[in-house]
Amino acid sequence: MKRLIAIAAAGCVLLTAGCGQRAPSADEGGGAGGPSSFAERAVPAPAPGEPTAGPDGAALPAPGGPAPLSADGRTSGTQPNAAAPVPTPAPAPAQSVPAPEPAKPNAKAEKPRQRGPAKPEPKAPAVSVQKSQSSAAKKLSLSELRAKYPEAFKVSGASKERNVALTFDDGPDDRFTPQVLDVLKAHGVKATFFLLGKRAEEHPDIVRRIVREGHAIGNHSYRHPQFPKLTVDQFAQEIEQTEEVLNRLTGYRPKLLRPPYGAIDEEQLQWAKSRGYMIVNWNVDSLDWKNLGEQQVSGNILGHAKAGSIVLQHSAGGDKQDLSGTVKALPGIIAKLREQGYGLVTVPELLHLSKSK
Ligand SMILES: [Zn+2]
Repeated sequence: MKRLIAIAAAGCVLLTAGCGQRAPSADEGGGAGGPSSFAERAVPAPAPGEPTAGPDGAALPAPGGPAPLSADGRTSGTQPNAAAPVPTPAPAPAQSVPAPEPAKPNAKAEKPRQRGPAKPEPKAPAVSVQKSQSSAAKKLSLSELRAKYPEAFKVSGASKERNVALTFDDGPDDRFTPQVLDVLKAHGVKATFFLLGKRAEEHPDIVRRIVREGHAIGNHSYRHPQFPKLTVDQFAQEIEQTEEVLNRLTGYRPKLLRPPYGAIDEEQLQWAKSRGYMIVNWNVDSLDWKNLGEQQVSGNILGHAKAGSIVLQHSAGGDKQDLSGTVKALPGIIAKLREQGYGLVTVPELLHLSKSK
């Protein structure tokens, strides 16, 4: 008993930290005050070890409801999953993501047992097969998923072509997204915006402007939940609801899908793949969600960009999140990359894909 109590107490401490951050955020974000929460999260999140799944997986709030938009920031923290994160060595992080889910290991052992007895023969119907696959899927890290589904999950383009794709998540908003668009327009750069369905509904004119000015758009979920914490049905609803909004506003259904925090499990990936989506994360993280200044944002990008890179930045965040560093750094980043001979293209161009499904 004492042990349990002690453990519970420890858990509370950890949860408290996480909850505190979230509390303000999520759901509210969904409503009107939501944004503020974002900021909080991003800020508090521990910078150094973040990449470790710890933050993303564990801390985030429940699915659906809460909209941890700032999450992306975390996403950035999560980057490692995506590919070769800026800060920490890549390999470890990816694994960390799956790690958070304590039940997995047990699940593996348990499922076999339960099913073994219940079902007479190994040659089970399709249903059983799917279940076993889904359970196994949860075990795979993002890097393992990319390796298993290279045709459906990308973090970069071909290294032979000297192109780089700038991407901006969590918009649209009427605060930073217009500023990002102004800079891109002034420099003749086409980028890719991964939009939240809820925010798209709130700022339809900004969505139309993004498309009108030649940028590509992608589906970034409706409320920015952690996909691995959702059932496939909940996951599908997030995607389809957003797709409907974007189709209504732009006239097409985006092929690109970027999971919040870059996190997705195998069953969800299979669903997305079967519906014609291409999962696109990143391999260069600006970490701009941490309210970094111009030079830091610029350094994080220019220090890691290479041929085929997909760069993660944000065009919207919480009320307390200051993305002015991204806006200010953008002209210099564009100039430097071009000076180095890189072409700045949209993700569909980088990956030679159609923008629509
Ligand atoms: Zn995001």
